[in-house]
Amino acid sequence: MSLMSQKLQAVHASIQAAAAAVSRRPDSVALLAVSKTFGADMVLEAIAAGQRAFGENYLQEAVAKMAAVDLALQAERGSAAETLLEWHFIGPIQSNKTRPIAENFAWVHTVEREKIAQRLSEQRPPHLPPLNICLQVNISGEASKSGMAPDQVLDAARAIIGLPRLVLRGLMAIPEPTEDLQRQHAAFRRTRELLLQLQAGLPEHAAQLDTLSMGMSADMAVAIEEGATIVRVGSAIFGQRERTIQS
Ligand SMILES: *Cc1c(COP(=O)(O)O)cnc(C)c1O
Repeated sequence: MSLMSQKLQAVHASIQAAAAAVSRRPDSVALLAVSKTFGADMVLEAIAAGQRAFGENYLQEAVAKMAAVDLALQAERGSAAETLLEWHFIGPIQSNKTRPIAENFAWVHTVEREKIAQRLSEQRPPHLPPLNICLQVNISGEASKSGMAPDQVLDAARAIIGLPRLVLRGLMAIPEPTEDLQRQHAAFRRTRELLLQLQAGLPEHAAQLDTLSMGMSADMAVAIEEGATIVRVGSAIFGQRERTIQS
């Protein structure tokens, strides 16, 4: 078995264990493999090991990588890669960069302003299904962190659910890093409670508000115990990142 398969299996085993600990079905948690800074070769290895959903933070890097992966898969299988893979944008969004995001991704986790949502909806190509989005919430209240304040989320969601080419799926959070397990639990629990408020406040859309994107390599077990439905895992799959790239 390849090293990549072993790492993916280990992550799936952790997901299953965390889900089982709180009597959740293991298939209620999706694994998003965060491939930022890693090349198309690593993505292809993960695909060969069965992974289908990939998360990227930096637009230019992501678009180049998608093209390289596509080409390699077409050469290998003779089939279009886009039917096979699901790309998620999980990085900060500048308002002049929304079009390539709307054109190239199936999901955007990091919507933190209504204006960004409007642009994504306007720019989503008509031949593609509506773009799935999550609102990013600044759940730990850090001044420097991105995301909307928790008390702004309901109003933003009310404005965004009317946009024709988006589907509001839920919330995304990156809590302040801490070794304190209680605080980790508390931040993820607040995110879940906020989603419950949204579901109650937007009743006709409750069925589609099914997503809590939370938990990374270091804290995914706690996030799953508190209800995460997508964990975004990079280093536990691909190894430590050596370099950082700016978009
Ligand atoms: C890099 C990144 C991840 C993955 O982090 P790891 O610690 O490598 O698992 C998850 N979410 C976001 C938004 C990221 O930028």
